[in-house]
Amino acid sequence: MSRTVYVNGEYLPEEEARVSVFDRGFLFADGVYEVTSVLDGKLVDFDGHAKRLERSLGELEMANPVTRDELLEIHRELVTRNAITEGMVYLQITRGAADRDFAFPVDATPTIVLFTQSMPLIEKPTAKTGIKIVSIPDLRWGRRDIKTVQLLYPSMGKMVAKKAGADDAWMVQDDFVTEGTSNNAWIVSGNRIVTRHLGTEILHGITRAAVLRMAREVQMTVEERPFSLAEAKAADEAFVTSASAFVMPVVEIDGQPVGQGTPGPLSRRLREIYIDEMRAAAI
Ligand code: PLP
Repeated sequence: MSRTVYVNGEYLPEEEARVSVFDRGFLFADGVYEVTSVLDGKLVDFDGHAKRLERSLGELEMANPVTRDELLEIHRELVTRNAITEGMVYLQITRGAADRDFAFPVDATPTIVLFTQSMPLIEKPTAKTGIKIVSIPDLRWGRRDIKTVQLLYPSMGKMVAKKAGADDAWMVQDDFVTEGTSNNAWIVSGNRIVTRHLGTEILHGITRAAVLRMAREVQMTVEERPFSLAEAKAADEAFVTSASAFVMPVVEIDGQPVGQGTPGPLSRRLREIYIDEMRAAAI
């Protein structure tokens, strides 16, 4: 069945949706995006995603074509029209269409596109088995804190993982893990939970922020600092966080089992807490 998508103020069947060939998102990856998950037909951490979107746009001096209230309304309308109970809403804003020029156009109207994807998020088989990771060098640009649509390197990383029989890749810079191709990376050593500190080297994950808060609320010890690949391989547990994976255990890194090679107790507990709290707070 055809989905209803949103393009520049209109709700359209997906076959009728159009964006210009001159759109700078297409020509220059001059655009930003957000992915908000849907549980029980409601939006998870919408405010967090809306705030980060505003920040990404600001960092790129890109105009925001919608207010936060309008954005919420569009998200909800798409969830309803496409009868999404579990899945996600994808949003992309680009600088718009203009004659091809490296310099930003002065008067382009931003392009805004949203669509939904229905998929199971809670009952994923990998939540029970955990995922396997390979390490790759982090060859991305230096402003990874801006959620741009330049996703070719992460996409190549995912292919490296697939070819190696793994599920995902962790990127490594100067021996330290930055993050996963589309998630933040965490390890657990003893009773300490470690995830890289915020900076321009990683995306400021909305799920990361929520999990940090929840871990502290239940008196877990959390450290925001860089950790090396060697430290990760020697850790008791590892996991990743993202809007669509929630908290996902990692059971293998570069062919070596992490801990017992099965999802660890803290990772499982944090996943449960995250799902329970986010379900209750979804709007
Ligand atoms: N890091 C990268 C590179 C990502 O692409 C993503 C999500 O797409 C994340 C981290 C996790 O961010 P969030 O929890 O906001 O989904």
